[in-house]
Amino acid sequence: MSTRAVPFHCPYCGDEDLEPYEKDGGWYCRSCARAFKLTFLGIGVKI
Ligand SMILES: [Zn+2]
Repeated sequence: MSTRAVPFHCPYCGDEDLEPYEKDGGWYCRSCARAFKLTFLGIGVKI
């Protein structure tokens, strides 16, 4: 199972114009020129 999370919207400006920024899961928003990274923390498990 992949832990790669795919964002549908930029968390900063809400735009959908995203492109992969790094090989390991980073994303870049063309709209606000921010690069960010999402981390998958788990599913069905509450710590
Ligand atoms: Zn943005």
